[in-house]
Amino acid sequence: MNIGIVGLGLIGGSLGLDLRALGYQVLGVSRQEQTCQRAIERGVVDDASLNLTLLAAADVVFICTPIAAIAPTVQQLIPHLSPETVLTDVGSVKAAIVNQVAPLWHNFVGGHPMAGTTDSGVDAAVLGLFAENPYVLTPIETTPTPAVKRVEEIVRSLTSRVYFCRPEDHDRAVASISHLPVMVSAGLIDSCMSEPDPTVLELAQQLASSGFRDTSRVGGGNPELGIMMARYNRESILRSLTSYRHSLDQLIELIEQEDWPMLEKKLQETQSQRPQFL
Ligand code: NAP
Repeated sequence: MNIGIVGLGLIGGSLGLDLRALGYQVLGVSRQEQTCQRAIERGVVDDASLNLTLLAAADVVFICTPIAAIAPTVQQLIPHLSPETVLTDVGSVKAAIVNQVAPLWHNFVGGHPMAGTTDSGVDAAVLGLFAENPYVLTPIETTPTPAVKRVEEIVRSLTSRVYFCRPEDHDRAVASISHLPVMVSAGLIDSCMSEPDPTVLELAQQLASSGFRDTSRVGGGNPELGIMMARYNRESILRSLTSYRHSLDQLIELIEQEDWPMLEKKLQETQSQRPQFL
């Protein structure tokens, strides 16, 4: 089977490495010549081009560009495809993309691998990024079953854990466990930087260790991703941020009132609830 990938960055590149290791023929298209050359050098693709015509031979195409470029890419790709070609994307939001792309191409299956690092670009691509991680597929009523099966088969071969849900449910769920953490983590770094005493700020930077590393990781990542999450999942992320502000207010109140038993009860609850997510 020939697999096409448009957008040879962290996600597209990592998919290419895995799919080639599994024996698929992988054809890549990216915006810059140097990305294409690097992708070939790194073994991410069998062949790469700036030109979407390369993907005429693909049976399945993964669109791995930034979110804003996904629907325009599909529009440019369509003249080069045979009607049986299955398209899927990896965008971190689903309703906005599925609503735009499904009317353009009937064999389209929305997808989102729940895996990443703080790096971006083709050099950030790593083998095995998707293994054992969730991969969400969001077919809608009009999505042909054979197209869903085809994408599911490829995703399962990455040893990802496959989940199916409605695009809107995906967006609400990821707003709380993926998009909210990015904003909270960015807010944490910003708040630490607002320390007015330069000596204390410098000391804090020197003392930062595992706790700060864990909690600041997603806020210190690719800004483009955070902006896309907020723009394309605005309603859900605002709902999650408002709920988080309410939780923060409750914690502030407990500490202000020195209500240590209630604070202990709250922290015992969160300690026992965390394993429900991980
Ligand atoms: P990335 O590392 O910046 O890669 C995106 C690549 O797309 C860039 O290397 C760029 O290649 C290429 N590109 C940009 N515009 C293009 C266009 N118009 N046509 C063709 N190629 C284009 O970003 P990423 O982290 O892989 O994210 C890609 C997608 O994956 C996004 O939709 C994101 O929502 C989703 N996603 C990301 C993560 C994550 O944690 N990073 C996780 C899950 C899903 P050139 O160098 O050639 O310009």
